[in-house]
Amino acid sequence: MAFNFYEGVSVQQLQKIEREVGPFYYYNTSLLYQTLEAIKKELSETPHFHVHYAIKANANPELLKLVREAGLGIDCVSGGEVQRALEMGFSPKGIVFAGVGKSDREIRTALQAGISCFNVESLPEMEVINDLAKQLNVKARLAFRVNPNVDAHTHEKITTGLHENKFGLAMEDLIPAIRLCNELEAVEYVGLHFHIGSQILDLSVYEALCNRINEIQLQLEAEGIHTQSINVGGGLGINYDHPDQNPIPNFNAYFKVFKDNLEVRNGQQVHFELGRSIVAQCGALVSSVLYVKQGHTKNFLIVDAGFTELIRPAMYGSLHFTENISAEGAPTAHYDIVGPICESSDVFAKDYPLPSSQRGDIIVFRSAGAYGEVMASTYNCRTLPQTFTTEQINK
Ligand SMILES: *Cc1c(COP(=O)(O)O)cnc(C)c1O
Repeated sequence: MAFNFYEGVSVQQLQKIEREVGPFYYYNTSLLYQTLEAIKKELSETPHFHVHYAIKANANPELLKLVREAGLGIDCVSGGEVQRALEMGFSPKGIVFAGVGKSDREIRTALQAGISCFNVESLPEMEVINDLAKQLNVKARLAFRVNPNVDAHTHEKITTGLHENKFGLAMEDLIPAIRLCNELEAVEYVGLHFHIGSQILDLSVYEALCNRINEIQLQLEAEGIHTQSINVGGGLGINYDHPDQNPIPNFNAYFKVFKDNLEVRNGQQVHFELGRSIVAQCGALVSSVLYVKQGHTKNFLIVDAGFTELIRPAMYGSLHFTENISAEGAPTAHYDIVGPICESSDVFAKDYPLPSSQRGDIIVFRSAGAYGEVMASTYNCRTLPQTFTTEQINK
């Protein structure tokens, strides 16, 4: 049976909320639940695989509850995210913390919480973690983020694993870093960390990453270095063009690449940091048409949501599958769908086919669960969008 994103809510319910609160995020919690179940199923066959949800994709408490109930850990990139994860009841034992610019305050927060691992991106950072851990009389577990120079073949703003990117240590610095780590008293080397980019749909990219990790492991072993854990990062992409065709990403194929290609040593643990692939499809930005404006050469559909609610089109040039759920069946017209923000970049789509639309119609931007709500801003003195889950709408 075809997947129906709107099962569980009615157009009238969404329209009523939009009239009351303006543009808002709707989260289909049943889809998130099923997505998490699909991941759990894969993990049940490989007890040495561990998934840490990348909380930067969406930190909404209602979604985090489901992620916690599914037993996943958390991947953080700021002290605020570590705090949010702890407040939401995640065990510090499942929290990993990455980022090129961790401040002293953030490092202290994570040390005091006793998180499982710092993903360290430079030598000066390791020394600061060592100093702060010594002061707090704790020992920090470190993984080194290695820049493997593997091209993710994705958007340039979300490619992170090339020499030219700011992330991670260069290969030639890795062995000296591990040696120094073993000499310092308040830090312990536990593993390697990689994250090569986002929205990766070509799984051969992950095969290349596995091959690169296998080479690095051999080099380390030749130096007598033993690695407890390998963190391969996140980045699995989703189908933005047809959100109803693949509402749940093919996690089986994704994990299989690592099962088949990564040479895991006895007792070694493998960690994953999936963000987008877990939450993107369960979220949608619901807006309404303010005006239909006839231009000289095109028609503009001016909606009440803008890049303050969903910045991905303006920031990455991305296109979200868009529906007019009030006018289904009307003849097709083409629109430039734009928001009200005073910037030319506030455009969701150009020349986009929709049923002929009118003021008040409900326009839904799909696949907005990842990097949507978390990136919302108050530019133009707007208010942050409210959020509603299926349960909240029906209670
Ligand atoms: C952003 C990020 C992730 C998650 O990326 P997705 O593409 O959302 O899966 C994982 N690890 C690190 C270090 C990140 O910065």
